[in-house]
Amino acid sequence: MTRTVYVNGEYVPETEAKVSIFDRAFLMADGVYEVTSVIDGKLVDFEGHAVRLERSLNELEMRNPVTKDELLQIHRDLIEKNDLTEGGIYLQITRGAPADRDFAWPNPDETPSGIVLFTFAKNLVEMPSVKTGIKVISIEDIRWGRRDIKTVQLLYPSMGKMMAKKAGCDDAWMVEDGFVTEGTSNNAYIVKGNKIITRALSNDILHGITRAAVLRFAAEAQMEVEERNFTIEEAQAADEAFITSATTFVQPVVEIDGAQVGEGVPGKLALRLREIYIEESMKTAV
Ligand code: PLP
Repeated sequence: MTRTVYVNGEYVPETEAKVSIFDRAFLMADGVYEVTSVIDGKLVDFEGHAVRLERSLNELEMRNPVTKDELLQIHRDLIEKNDLTEGGIYLQITRGAPADRDFAWPNPDETPSGIVLFTFAKNLVEMPSVKTGIKVISIEDIRWGRRDIKTVQLLYPSMGKMMAKKAGCDDAWMVEDGFVTEGTSNNAYIVKGNKIITRALSNDILHGITRAAVLRFAAEAQMEVEERNFTIEEAQAADEAFITSATTFVQPVVEIDGAQVGEGVPGKLALRLREIYIEESMKTAV
Protein backbone atom coordinates (compact mmCIF):
# COMPACT_ATOMS: atom_id res chain seq x y z
CA MET A 1 0.00 0.00 0.00
CA THR A 2 1.23 3.48 -0.83
CA ARG A 3 1.31 5.45 2.39
CA THR A 4 0.03 8.96 2.72
CA VAL A 5 2.70 11.09 4.38
CA TYR A 6 2.80 14.69 5.61
CA VAL A 7 5.37 17.08 4.16
CA ASN A 8 5.44 20.79 4.97
CA GLY A 9 1.71 21.32 5.25
CA GLU A 10 0.51 18.76 2.71
CA TYR A 11 -0.69 15.18 2.74
CA VAL A 12 0.83 13.41 -0.27
CA PRO A 13 1.45 9.83 -1.45
CA GLU A 14 4.89 8.71 -0.23
CA THR A 15 6.02 8.33 -3.85
CA GLU A 16 5.43 12.05 -4.45
CA ALA A 17 6.91 13.38 -1.19
CA LYS A 18 9.89 15.67 -1.78
CA VAL A 19 12.31 17.70 0.33
CA SER A 20 15.03 20.07 -0.83
CA ILE A 21 18.66 18.97 -1.20
CA PHE A 22 19.46 22.13 0.79
CA ASP A 23 17.46 20.96 3.80
CA ARG A 24 19.82 21.27 6.77
CA ALA A 25 18.84 17.90 8.15
CA PHE A 26 20.09 16.35 4.90
CA LEU A 27 23.32 18.37 4.84
CA MET A 28 24.12 18.72 8.56
CA ALA A 29 21.81 16.48 10.60
CA ASP A 30 20.25 19.76 11.73
CA GLY A 31 16.92 18.30 12.74
CA VAL A 32 15.08 16.69 15.63
CA TYR A 33 12.60 13.82 15.68
CA GLU A 34 10.07 11.87 17.71
CA VAL A 35 8.59 8.42 17.33
CA THR A 36 5.19 7.87 18.91
CA SER A 37 3.73 4.40 19.08
CA VAL A 38 0.21 3.53 18.02
CA ILE A 39 -1.85 0.73 19.56
CA ASP A 40 -5.46 0.08 18.56
CA GLY A 41 -5.27 3.18 16.35
CA LYS A 42 -4.42 5.38 19.35
CA LEU A 43 -1.31 7.39 20.22
CA VAL A 44 0.64 6.28 23.28
CA ASP A 45 1.89 9.16 25.45
CA PHE A 46 1.43 11.84 22.78
CA GLU A 47 1.79 14.51 25.46
CA GLY A 48 5.22 13.22 26.56
CA HIS A 49 6.53 13.19 23.00
CA ALA A 50 5.12 16.66 22.25
CA VAL A 51 6.79 18.09 25.38
CA ARG A 52 10.17 16.48 24.58
CA LEU A 53 9.94 17.72 20.97
CA GLU A 54 9.44 21.26 22.23
CA ARG A 55 12.45 20.87 24.52
CA SER A 56 14.69 19.56 21.71
CA LEU A 57 13.60 22.47 19.48
CA ASN A 58 14.24 25.04 22.22
CA GLU A 59 17.70 23.66 22.97
CA LEU A 60 18.60 24.16 19.29
CA GLU A 61 16.74 27.46 18.88
CA MET A 62 14.65 25.92 16.16
CA ARG A 63 11.05 26.97 15.49
CA ASN A 64 8.14 24.58 15.60
CA PRO A 65 6.15 25.19 12.40
CA VAL A 66 2.95 23.80 13.97
CA THR A 67 1.09 24.13 17.26
CA LYS A 68 0.61 21.16 19.60
CA ASP A 69 -3.05 20.88 18.60
CA GLU A 70 -2.12 20.90 14.91
CA LEU A 71 0.52 18.26 15.59
CA LEU A 72 -2.02 16.00 17.27
CA GLN A 73 -4.42 16.50 14.36
CA ILE A 74 -1.71 15.58 11.83
CA HIS A 75 -0.90 12.42 13.80
CA ARG A 76 -4.60 11.51 13.89
CA ASP A 77 -5.11 12.27 10.19
CA LEU A 78 -2.18 10.01 9.27
CA ILE A 79 -3.54 7.17 11.41
CA GLU A 80 -6.87 7.49 9.63
CA LYS A 81 -5.54 7.98 6.11
CA ASN A 82 -3.26 4.95 6.47
CA ASP A 83 -5.67 2.70 8.40
CA LEU A 84 -2.99 2.27 11.04
CA THR A 85 -3.95 0.10 13.99
CA GLU A 86 -0.53 -0.84 15.39
CA GLY A 87 2.91 0.66 14.74
CA GLY A 88 4.08 4.22 15.03
CA ILE A 89 4.45 7.70 13.63
CA TYR A 90 7.81 9.21 12.80
CA LEU A 91 8.02 12.99 13.02
CA GLN A 92 10.96 15.14 11.98
CA ILE A 93 11.42 18.89 12.20
CA THR A 94 14.44 20.46 10.52
CA ARG A 95 15.95 23.93 10.34
CA GLY A 96 14.56 24.12 6.82
CA ALA A 97 16.16 24.64 3.45
CA PRO A 98 18.08 27.91 3.01
CA ALA A 99 19.29 29.06 -0.38
CA ASP A 100 22.71 27.53 0.10
CA ARG A 101 24.86 25.42 2.42
CA ASP A 102 26.24 27.48 5.28
CA PHE A 103 27.43 26.58 8.79
CA ALA A 104 25.64 29.63 10.22
CA TRP A 105 21.95 29.12 10.90
CA PRO A 106 19.58 30.81 8.47
CA ASN A 107 17.23 33.56 9.65
CA PRO A 108 14.07 31.65 10.70
CA ASP A 109 11.90 34.49 9.33
CA GLU A 110 13.29 33.78 5.88
CA THR A 111 13.79 30.01 6.17
CA PRO A 112 10.85 28.24 7.80
CA SER A 113 11.44 24.95 9.59
CA GLY A 114 10.72 21.82 7.60
CA ILE A 115 8.33 19.16 8.90
CA VAL A 116 7.77 15.58 7.81
CA LEU A 117 5.63 12.83 9.33
CA PHE A 118 5.00 9.27 8.21
CA THR A 119 3.41 6.15 9.64
CA PHE A 120 4.85 2.65 9.91
CA ALA A 121 2.99 -0.56 10.67
CA LYS A 122 4.60 -2.90 13.20
CA ASN A 123 3.48 -5.49 15.72
CA LEU A 124 4.33 -3.91 19.05
CA VAL A 125 2.29 -5.87 21.58
CA GLU A 126 3.12 -9.34 20.27
CA MET A 127 6.86 -9.38 19.62
CA PRO A 128 8.79 -12.67 19.30
CA SER A 129 11.83 -11.09 20.97
CA VAL A 130 9.88 -10.65 24.21
CA LYS A 131 9.67 -14.41 24.58
CA THR A 132 13.36 -15.03 23.84
CA GLY A 133 14.89 -11.84 25.21
CA ILE A 134 17.59 -9.94 23.34
CA LYS A 135 21.38 -10.18 23.36
CA VAL A 136 23.54 -7.08 23.61
CA ILE A 137 27.21 -6.26 23.21
CA SER A 138 28.97 -3.32 24.84
CA ILE A 139 30.68 -0.63 22.79
CA GLU A 140 32.36 2.62 23.67
CA ASP A 141 30.05 5.63 23.69
CA ILE A 142 31.70 8.14 21.38
CA ARG A 143 28.61 10.27 20.66
CA TRP A 144 28.46 14.03 21.20
CA GLY A 145 27.73 15.63 24.58
CA ARG A 146 24.04 16.57 24.09
CA ARG A 147 22.39 13.17 23.88
CA ASP A 148 19.39 14.63 25.72
CA ILE A 149 18.42 16.38 22.47
CA LYS A 150 16.72 13.95 20.10
CA THR A 151 18.55 14.87 16.90
CA VAL A 152 18.65 12.95 13.63
CA GLN A 153 22.42 12.65 14.03
CA LEU A 154 22.23 8.85 14.34
CA LEU A 155 25.29 7.54 12.51
CA TYR A 156 27.09 6.17 15.57
CA PRO A 157 24.02 4.43 17.06
CA SER A 158 23.46 2.97 13.60
CA MET A 159 27.09 1.73 13.51
CA GLY A 160 26.58 0.27 16.99
CA LYS A 161 23.56 -1.65 15.78
CA MET A 162 25.65 -3.07 12.92
CA MET A 163 28.48 -4.05 15.30
CA ALA A 164 25.88 -5.93 17.35
CA LYS A 165 24.47 -7.67 14.28
CA LYS A 166 27.94 -8.70 13.12
CA ALA A 167 28.51 -10.21 16.58
CA GLY A 168 25.26 -12.19 16.25
CA CYS A 169 23.48 -9.96 18.78
CA ASP A 170 20.49 -7.63 18.72
CA ASP A 171 21.75 -4.35 20.09
CA ALA A 172 24.66 -2.54 21.72
CA TRP A 173 24.85 -0.87 25.15
CA MET A 174 27.16 2.09 25.07
CA VAL A 175 29.71 2.63 27.81
CA GLU A 176 31.38 5.89 28.87
CA ASP A 177 33.99 6.18 31.63
CA GLY A 178 33.23 2.60 32.60
CA PHE A 179 29.47 3.06 32.99
CA VAL A 180 26.58 2.13 30.70
CA THR A 181 24.89 5.17 29.17
CA GLU A 182 22.09 3.61 27.08
CA GLY A 183 21.29 1.32 24.16
CA THR A 184 21.60 2.47 20.54
CA SER A 185 17.92 3.48 20.54
CA ASN A 186 16.67 2.65 24.02
CA ASN A 187 17.30 3.16 27.72
CA ALA A 188 19.09 0.44 29.71
CA TYR A 189 18.17 -1.11 33.08
CA ILE A 190 19.26 -3.88 35.40
CA VAL A 191 17.36 -5.55 38.23
CA LYS A 192 18.83 -6.75 41.51
CA GLY A 193 16.32 -8.35 43.85
CA ASN A 194 13.24 -6.13 43.72
CA LYS A 195 15.29 -3.08 42.72
CA ILE A 196 15.37 -1.53 39.25
CA ILE A 197 18.60 0.31 38.51
CA THR A 198 18.98 2.77 35.64
CA ARG A 199 21.25 5.70 34.88
CA ALA A 200 19.99 9.08 36.12
CA LEU A 201 18.88 11.74 33.63
CA SER A 202 21.54 14.16 32.36
CA ASN A 203 22.88 15.35 29.01
CA ASP A 204 24.52 11.91 28.67
CA ILE A 205 21.33 10.08 27.70
CA LEU A 206 18.03 10.63 25.97
CA HIS A 207 15.24 11.28 28.44
CA GLY A 208 13.10 8.37 27.28
CA ILE A 209 9.36 8.90 27.33
CA THR A 210 8.92 5.17 27.94
CA ARG A 211 11.53 5.39 30.73
CA ALA A 212 9.51 8.08 32.52
CA ALA A 213 6.30 6.05 32.27
CA VAL A 214 7.91 2.75 33.26
CA LEU A 215 9.61 4.24 36.33
CA ARG A 216 6.32 5.83 37.38
CA PHE A 217 4.43 2.53 36.98
CA ALA A 218 7.20 0.63 38.78
CA ALA A 219 6.98 2.95 41.79
CA GLU A 220 3.18 2.62 41.81
CA ALA A 221 3.60 -1.17 41.82
CA GLN A 222 5.84 -0.87 44.92
CA MET A 223 8.99 -1.80 42.99
CA GLU A 224 12.12 -0.04 44.18
CA VAL A 225 13.86 2.27 41.69
CA GLU A 226 17.44 3.50 41.97
CA GLU A 227 18.75 6.01 39.43
CA ARG A 228 22.51 5.58 39.33
CA ASN A 229 25.36 4.47 37.11
CA PHE A 230 26.14 0.78 36.60
CA THR A 231 28.90 -1.11 34.83
CA ILE A 232 28.76 -3.96 32.33
CA GLU A 233 30.16 -6.29 34.99
CA GLU A 234 27.36 -5.35 37.40
CA ALA A 235 24.81 -5.86 34.63
CA GLN A 236 26.22 -9.31 33.80
CA ALA A 237 25.87 -10.28 37.47
CA ALA A 238 22.35 -8.81 37.82
CA ASP A 239 19.18 -10.89 38.21
CA GLU A 240 17.61 -9.31 35.13
CA ALA A 241 18.27 -6.69 32.49
CA PHE A 242 15.96 -4.89 30.09
CA ILE A 243 15.55 -1.96 27.73
CA THR A 244 12.73 0.49 27.08
CA SER A 245 11.70 2.57 24.06
CA ALA A 246 8.53 3.77 22.35
CA THR A 247 8.61 0.95 19.80
CA THR A 248 9.83 -1.91 22.02
CA PHE A 249 8.08 -0.91 25.28
CA VAL A 250 9.92 -3.14 27.79
CA GLN A 251 12.20 -5.81 26.28
CA PRO A 252 14.14 -8.30 28.40
CA VAL A 253 17.92 -8.60 27.85
CA VAL A 254 19.24 -12.14 28.43
CA GLU A 255 22.90 -11.85 27.40
CA ILE A 256 25.54 -9.13 27.71
CA ASP A 257 28.91 -9.55 25.97
CA GLY A 258 28.36 -13.32 25.83
CA ALA A 259 27.55 -13.64 29.55
CA GLN A 260 24.12 -14.91 30.51
CA VAL A 261 22.04 -12.57 32.68
CA GLY A 262 20.25 -14.36 35.52
CA GLU A 263 18.82 -17.63 34.22
CA GLY A 264 19.39 -16.56 30.61
CA VAL A 265 15.66 -16.19 30.02
CA PRO A 266 13.40 -13.08 30.14
CA GLY A 267 13.11 -11.88 33.73
CA LYS A 268 9.83 -11.96 35.64
CA LEU A 269 10.01 -8.34 36.73
CA ALA A 270 10.72 -7.10 33.19
CA LEU A 271 7.80 -9.10 31.80
CA ARG A 272 5.50 -7.84 34.55
CA LEU A 273 6.58 -4.25 33.86
CA ARG A 274 5.87 -4.76 30.17
CA GLU A 275 2.34 -5.93 30.95
CA ILE A 276 1.73 -3.01 33.28
CA TYR A 277 3.18 -0.55 30.74
CA ILE A 278 0.91 -1.75 27.93
CA GLU A 279 -2.16 -1.85 30.15
CA GLU A 280 -1.61 1.57 31.73
CA SER A 281 -0.50 3.32 28.53
CA MET A 282 -3.64 2.21 26.74
CA LYS A 283 -5.73 3.96 29.37
CA THR A 284 -4.29 7.36 28.44
CA ALA A 285 -3.78 6.74 24.69
CA VAL A 286 -5.50 9.36 22.52
N1 PLP B 1 17.80 6.39 24.06
C1 PLP B 1 18.04 6.61 22.76
C2 PLP B 1 19.44 6.89 22.32
C3 PLP B 1 16.99 6.55 21.83
O1 PLP B 1 17.25 6.76 20.53
C4 PLP B 1 15.68 6.25 22.28
C5 PLP B 1 14.56 6.18 21.34
O2 PLP B 1 14.69 6.39 20.17
C6 PLP B 1 15.48 6.01 23.65
C7 PLP B 1 16.56 6.11 24.52
C8 PLP B 1 14.12 5.69 24.20
O3 PLP B 1 13.28 6.82 24.18
P1 PLP B 1 11.72 6.68 24.10
O4 PLP B 1 11.29 5.83 25.25
O5 PLP B 1 11.23 8.08 24.22
O6 PLP B 1 11.40 6.04 22.78
